[in-house]
Amino acid sequence: SLAHSKQRQEVRGMTSNTTTTGSVKTHTVVIVGGGAAGISVASSIHKRDGNIDIAIIEPANRHHYQPGWTMVGGGVFRPEVTSKPMSEVMPKFVSWYQQPVTAIDQDNNQVSLGDGSSMQYKALVLAPGLELNWGGIEGLEEALGSNGVTSNYREGMASYTWDIVQKLKKGRALFSQPPMPIKCAGAPQKAMYLSADYWLKHGVLNNVDIQFHNAGAVLFGVADYVPALEAYVEKYGIDLNFQSTLVAVNGPSKTAVFRSTDGEGNSQDREVSFDMLHAVPPQRAPKLIRESALANEGGWLNLEDDTLRHKTYTNIFGLGDVSGTGNAKTAAAVRKQAPVVAENLVATLRDQPLEAAYLGYGSCPLTVENGKIVLAEFGYGGVLQPSFPKWINDGNKATRAAWWLKAKKLPTLYWHGMLKGNEWLAKPAKR
Ligand code: FAD
Repeated sequence: SLAHSKQRQEVRGMTSNTTTTGSVKTHTVVIVGGGAAGISVASSIHKRDGNIDIAIIEPANRHHYQPGWTMVGGGVFRPEVTSKPMSEVMPKFVSWYQQPVTAIDQDNNQVSLGDGSSMQYKALVLAPGLELNWGGIEGLEEALGSNGVTSNYREGMASYTWDIVQKLKKGRALFSQPPMPIKCAGAPQKAMYLSADYWLKHGVLNNVDIQFHNAGAVLFGVADYVPALEAYVEKYGIDLNFQSTLVAVNGPSKTAVFRSTDGEGNSQDREVSFDMLHAVPPQRAPKLIRESALANEGGWLNLEDDTLRHKTYTNIFGLGDVSGTGNAKTAAAVRKQAPVVAENLVATLRDQPLEAAYLGYGSCPLTVENGKIVLAEFGYGGVLQPSFPKWINDGNKATRAAWWLKAKKLPTLYWHGMLKGNEWLAKPAKR
């Protein structure tokens, strides 16, 4: 088809050595990022109006289903099921530019690409995700992948987590959680519960000293789920440390430094030795957004909570982890955000009022043991927003059905539902 050959042409243009410096292209809608958010929103826009000319600017060769990384770390998924070539998930109807966006000139409706070319748009969608700040913890980057230091947040490293969990028969296992916000706030402890469950089932749990070090002051941000999690903390004999932030790691000496700060702002560093460390880095918006006029005070994209339109620039929208809206940064949030952005963006192109509203839905399937999940689903302000029936989401109780959903259904729904514009349980609310 024409669209097909158009896409091939764009990709070929970019990988060839021809210089495009100074050239300006134009597309009606330009989407920055081809992750969970960028691809889903392209499909949702196309579904509403198949004639809209859409470009996605995305440098990566592969697209990752990151929610699956917890399951790889727990020995449930093979790593291969969490990743596909970008060319396979890129919709045929978009023009794909395999480049990073290096600058946004929102006053002139233009973005700059890594090859020096520029692109003009009528409407812009920002979906570049967030930046994992590995350098924010001294020594972590060098330590990762050996001496028992791992992170399910690192592409390709969750299988090392599973390796060392199986090998550990005794000693100390540390799990850290950085300051909020992070993507999938439950993931640092999901890794811990799945590891503990394995040690319990293999009769070595009593020989493993498990410590959770959380920069924050609570186990989980939505209070309703805390008692259920605390029951598992007790079951596994986990030692909880709050306001204890991982600041340095030394792989060869197998030591970690945690900083605790008291009410008066006095801080104290404590060195803890380990046999295994699952570390999660601090996270922030990508520099492209953080250091632009499009950011809020915290550096995140400054969007209206309900319409997901930029607060100042009426032809700019955003969704996914980059958003400064107060929802949980999850792919589940993207499932609800993509149709809202699509509807409001199409309305903007047609000079119509914005009617679709996002109520802050996010979800976190808390894998408390292999075979059971507490399915946390909530919106802005921690208001519970169950979207699944009670046999799957039974309030704050762990269910086998929620595990079945995560282990058997969600990957398929992601690859073949959400990314393709099948808006499952995601009808936008009206403003
Ligand atoms: P991403 O999917 O990260 O995609 C961002 C894309 O933008 C990338 O492809 C990147 O290459 C591209 N990009 C970046 N900068 C630029 C640039 N300058 N120009 C062009 N392109 C750029 N969510 C759940 O719902 N449930 C879970 O159980 C869950 N568990 C998780 C467990 C782990 C360990 C992790 C790491 C995440 C988990 N998540 C979970 C979160 C989920 O993966 C993210 O919320 C989701 O991927 C966000 O989508 P996104 O498109 O905003 O970002």
